[in-house]
Amino acid sequence: MSDIEKVKCLIIGSGPAGYTAAIYAARADMSPVLYQGMQPGGQLTTTNEVENFPGYPDGVTGPEMMIQLEAQAKRFETDIRFGFITKVDFSGEIHKCWADDGKEIHAETVIISTGATAKYLGLESEQKYLAMGGGVSACAVCDGFFYRGQETVIVGAGDSACEEAHYLSKLCTKVTMLVRRDEFRASKIMAERVKNTKNITIMFNTETEEVLGDGQGVTGARVKNNKTGEETIVPCTGFFVAIGHKPNTDIFKDFINLDETGYIKYEEPGTSLTNVKGVFVAGDAADKRYRQAVTAAGTGCMAALDAERYLAAKE
Ligand code: NDP
Repeated sequence: MSDIEKVKCLIIGSGPAGYTAAIYAARADMSPVLYQGMQPGGQLTTTNEVENFPGYPDGVTGPEMMIQLEAQAKRFETDIRFGFITKVDFSGEIHKCWADDGKEIHAETVIISTGATAKYLGLESEQKYLAMGGGVSACAVCDGFFYRGQETVIVGAGDSACEEAHYLSKLCTKVTMLVRRDEFRASKIMAERVKNTKNITIMFNTETEEVLGDGQGVTGARVKNNKTGEETIVPCTGFFVAIGHKPNTDIFKDFINLDETGYIKYEEPGTSLTNVKGVFVAGDAADKRYRQAVTAAGTGCMAALDAERYLAAKE
């Protein structure tokens, strides 16, 4: 027999969206329970310095910001749990969720803030410099500024890679784009913009063999032309990966409407409502466009307010 717990508001995920939802829900007396998920603190814990979150004039590291958000959610007595939700059943009015510790939770409202996971190439050298904050990043808008006046590489050929290459081109002396096929996946207009930017060099049919470094930070990339087999070293201090994200929404797919790439669809644009009454979404699980900490926090606030109104209307 599993242990059943009844809660007013269950928040799944602990990035800026989840913690902001928790702060609002806790202050509205909804006694939220928050499951932190596989990566407590979310994607920001893999970011070094965050300089674009309003309110931190001197910047803050991603992990430090998440510690502060967690502390703020705890201050209003959010029940924060280390663990994750493995299964849900949203077929009834009460939303059933199961945690990895075997607990069965019956929630009146659920806020999904499970985020998305950036894809990486998976090379050992890439992971090494990513882990040490030494020049590998999956977010040009977050980290591009640290490479101003320097040379960077970006991997990918989709709209994100084009958008980020263009963003980097305004900061960096040179941006080299590594495209694995002989064409872009991006929309024509985005690809044209990249092609027409002087300080962006595009290398087609090119794959990364190794991210090079001096043990402290990235110094270049060893790349190979997959048609000719020719290897080249591209000097750079920043190695950006823009090969897509995977929204963490698999466990909801039987109940929640997702788009063709797995992102949760809003039932009503401009709200946090999903197709299931009492289930709301915040942050990157529904956002493939902005993906910023501040937008995630904003939608976390919206989800808590929508959940509060839903509960008030039921009473
Ligand atoms: P996409 O899935 O569209 O593109 C991923 C790119 O990465 C592809 O070019 C793919 O290559 C490449 N890639 C994947 N794996 C590897 C690998 N191992 N090595 C090298 N290259 C690799 O992801 P995006 O994040 O670009 O876009 C996601 C969605 O968001 C799209 O629908 C896009 O249109 C949308 N979007 C819209 C924007 C806008 O409108 N402003 C901005 C950003 C995104 P290949 O082509 O060979 O498969």
